Amino acid sequence: MSYLDQRVPPKREDRHADTCLAYGGTICGAQKPGRVCALTAGADRAFTQGSICPLLPAMGIMSSLPDTVVLMHGAVGCGSCAHGNNGNVRAGHAARSGQPVDALWLSTALNEIDVVSGGDEKLARAIEEIEAAHHPKAIFVVSGCLPGIIGDDLDAVAARVQPKIAAKILPVHCEGFKSRFMATAYDVIYHALGRNLLPAPTKKQPREKTTINIMTVGSMGRVDELELERLVKELGLKANFFPVFSDPDSLPRAARAALSVSTCPTHDDYFLIHLKEKYGVPYIIRHMPIGIANTSRWLSDIGQHFGLGPQAAALAQAEEKELEKALDDFRPLFQGKRVFLSAGEYRSLATASLLRELGFEIAGIRSFHYDEFADVEIEKLRREGQDFSWSVANVQPFEEANLLKRIKPDLFLGHWHGNNNAARLGIPTQVIYNTGFGYIGYRGAYDLARRLDRKLKNTAFTDRLGRYAGLPYQKSWYRREPFSLIRSRA
Ligand code: SF4
Repeated sequence: MSYLDQRVPPKREDRHADTCLAYGGTICGAQKPGRVCALTAGADRAFTQGSICPLLPAMGIMSSLPDTVVLMHGAVGCGSCAHGNNGNVRAGHAARSGQPVDALWLSTALNEIDVVSGGDEKLARAIEEIEAAHHPKAIFVVSGCLPGIIGDDLDAVAARVQPKIAAKILPVHCEGFKSRFMATAYDVIYHALGRNLLPAPTKKQPREKTTINIMTVGSMGRVDELELERLVKELGLKANFFPVFSDPDSLPRAARAALSVSTCPTHDDYFLIHLKEKYGVPYIIRHMPIGIANTSRWLSDIGQHFGLGPQAAALAQAEEKELEKALDDFRPLFQGKRVFLSAGEYRSLATASLLRELGFEIAGIRSFHYDEFADVEIEKLRREGQDFSWSVANVQPFEEANLLKRIKPDLFLGHWHGNNNAARLGIPTQVIYNTGFGYIGYRGAYDLARRLDRKLKNTAFTDRLGRYAGLPYQKSWYRREPFSLIRSRA
């Protein structure tokens, strides 16, 4: 039975037994005989400073879909991360349709009385009000922790209200307390889309022979999509980008594609397996097209699937040649500079490969979690004889501050909301995820190099910040080993 036949999707940690949130050591130290990586799945910390609720990435995807409304069913604070993401949504719409469009999300704002008497009726009323006021194509009805605790039945309410309204209701089970792995959010969204917006499979499934589903992640901008579209077009293929910013009416097309290809393996397996099992769409889930060699591998896999291996190889060779020439100007400045990376599992490791290609040394990586999908990237780095500090942490800035003080990298790449520790230590920083900038493909490699060149040539801002701004931790913390609060339990 497919996971999508169930009402509620499983947690990521139940689906992938080796998923880990707490490791501190080196990339080579994580190796065990016969295993690329063997981290303790149940490892935890004696002290935790922040974490990531799956609602954060889930909101990022949901609020990007045009003609949809997100209805948060929960306490009024749930989903407020959408405020911070609205610029991204506006810019994403502007890049695709020429018009900036705000994310549209509302909340049932459950209060103490609702906790006692239940929130089902409030939810039903809210869905009907949204239909009357906004006439969307689809309404994501999202459960936060509160309804999960008091037992509101999202699916029953959706089934009861659905006949009265035109919009498709998509129940989304995203209670933050259920999973500490933000990757659960990807499964939860794919679960909602797959159960509600895909057509019923037919005996003879219609097929678009040259269309490939390119699975997008919230951290990819339109500029990245255009780069991938340019590359697959060279092979005579059409790209169907999915699911970020895709119109709900266009989703059935995913079931007709000739191939699905992932751009971030830890993001996509849940849905790719479903498309294969139900609609016979084969898939490739191996490389993230970040970095020169990685992009060529990604392209080569697609080429081989369609019997276009030689064409893909020739295209990659020509692109690499042109890019190598363009990168020559930057390399002397980058050579030997030590860099620390912080990001989601796959992006952090793939970007490390790209930075190696540009001439940097990897001083350390902090990945938000670990699962088996990372093994491919870890092996690539190890094959180069690389070893460096590796922290697996769902944020935990206290560990990062301690680590950065010891490592003293020349450069820090992290999320825009996660660069402050490094900047306050005087380390030049660069955002690793800004959907206005290119990161993906050959063009992304060049764009990142150009930005890093500028950053390293003028470090005045972080120099001053390092001189005058401090971090809040006591000296005694820096005397302790950065991972001393990790407890490993089987
Ligand atoms: S952890 Fe629960 S209460 Fe907090 S934002 Fe996430 S869903 Fe809402």
